[in-house]
Amino acid sequence: MDTMSQNVVVIGAGISGLLSALALAKEGHHVTVVERESEVGGVCRSYRVGPYKVDTGPHIITRLNGGPLRRLIDDYFDTVPVFVPHGEYYVRSSDKMRPFPWTLKKFALFDPIPKSDRIELIQTITSVFSQRALRMLNDDVSVQDVIHNATLSPQTLSFIDTMCRFMTGTGMERTPLTRFFDSQDYKNKNKKEVQDPLDYLNGIKNAITKKGALDQYYPKGGVQTLINAIMSSMPYDLVEIRTSHEMTGIETRDGAVTGVTTKSGTIPADMVIYSPLVSELPTYLDGLPGDYVDELTSLETVRALTLWLGLDEPFFATDGSEIWIDSDPPCWVVPTTNYDAALAPRGHQLVGIATNLRPDMDIETVKRDLLAAIKDRLPGIEDHIMMEHWQVLVPEKAAWVVGRRMPACETPVGGLYLVGTDTMCKSMGVTRASYSVLELLDTLKRKGIISS
Ligand SMILES: Cc1cc2nc3c(=O)[nH]c(=O)nc-3n(C[C@H](O)[C@H](O)[C@H](O)COP(=O)(O)OP(=O)(O)OC[C@H]3O[C@@H](n4cnc5c(N)ncnc54)[C@H](O)[C@@H]3O)c2cc1C
Repeated sequence: MDTMSQNVVVIGAGISGLLSALALAKEGHHVTVVERESEVGGVCRSYRVGPYKVDTGPHIITRLNGGPLRRLIDDYFDTVPVFVPHGEYYVRSSDKMRPFPWTLKKFALFDPIPKSDRIELIQTITSVFSQRALRMLNDDVSVQDVIHNATLSPQTLSFIDTMCRFMTGTGMERTPLTRFFDSQDYKNKNKKEVQDPLDYLNGIKNAITKKGALDQYYPKGGVQTLINAIMSSMPYDLVEIRTSHEMTGIETRDGAVTGVTTKSGTIPADMVIYSPLVSELPTYLDGLPGDYVDELTSLETVRALTLWLGLDEPFFATDGSEIWIDSDPPCWVVPTTNYDAALAPRGHQLVGIATNLRPDMDIETVKRDLLAAIKDRLPGIEDHIMMEHWQVLVPEKAAWVVGRRMPACETPVGGLYLVGTDTMCKSMGVTRASYSVLELLDTLKRKGIISS
């Protein structure tokens, strides 16, 4: 089908907006990107702190073997970052480090939690697989719902809660159980959902044989190299990127978009791709239906606190990241120089240590606790800290929690589409952002606006 070239305005130059701009320009449309900050990348950037190069939070890119970002790379990128395999996930508790127990067999031997709890949880896991095969699980079932009758010890409950916070940013009472199946399902490219009782057996097989996170990688040079690869793949005869341009409103006529306003004037548009917080969309646009506004504004964000440490000698293993399960607060620890030594001066280690910030938490108290936890886990580290840099950021623009739907790509306004991490209940971070862009492209294909 031949398609007409349209004037597109993409609002926001985070990875969702930039991937959308790249794909639409390569599909032949004229694209203007407006970004309110002076730099592109949103929360997917790297920058210098003295001689160290830190990312906006530690980033490991998931599902790169055939997942959504890989599909976009294959279809639209001219240059591709170098991806270094993530390696092992380690669980560090107060006594020692252990590899993450990916399989049921390894979980059976995972001794930070009591043996009786392990047996009970293995029974729960296999029962959950059958409930799923019978389609008895949906996004309204939380992790807590399936274990509420179990008699688990406080340390087991704390481990489960930490894993939920790691996967969704919220605790087990709000984490949908389906979040834990999502990573298993993505390889079934042609299936939108479980369709076959044999999936029960496949699920169990996966739980028995899974080798670990083999499809996860760190982009050499820092997460900014992903943004740089997108920017250098842009067909600049069709794309204009305006930084320090804040969108202040979206103009419509007869229920369809006509343009985007910024402080420097209005940019006419046949199509608008919106990537800032969807909960703020109603402030830019009048006349949205009330129930739609309620859906958008009910979404919640979760903040993350990251501490970057530059160390003058290595304190962390060389092949992966660590999950600290019984520290207060629990943390995810990624030594990025293990993937790329050039991120720090020769012989130094750069490590990002991230934790969730619940709304009721006082940042200064969590900072103090986090530093104390680091010194407790790694005695003597304080004498080797050459650089300390803190970040408070929002990893996903909406948390995937039970009972909340994220809005679809299509909106009630003609020509206005949503992309970003608050438009899709799948995976997290860059991977979720990439899914949202694939959803945009699928939607536009169905409407005959793009052809390939
Ligand atoms: C601590 C931390 C750890 C993370 N770890 C990982 C990880 O391991 N793996 C992973 O894949 N991801 C990770 N992420 C998340 C990932 O970086 C983000 O989810 C992703 O980059 C979000 O992209 P986005 O484009 O949807 O949103 P954003 O990056 O938020 O982009 C939105 C853009 O819109 C712009 N904007 C907003 N309002 C306006 C306006 N009015 N006018 C113009 N522009 C506007 C903003 O300035 C911004 O540039 C992590 C993030 C953090 C903070």
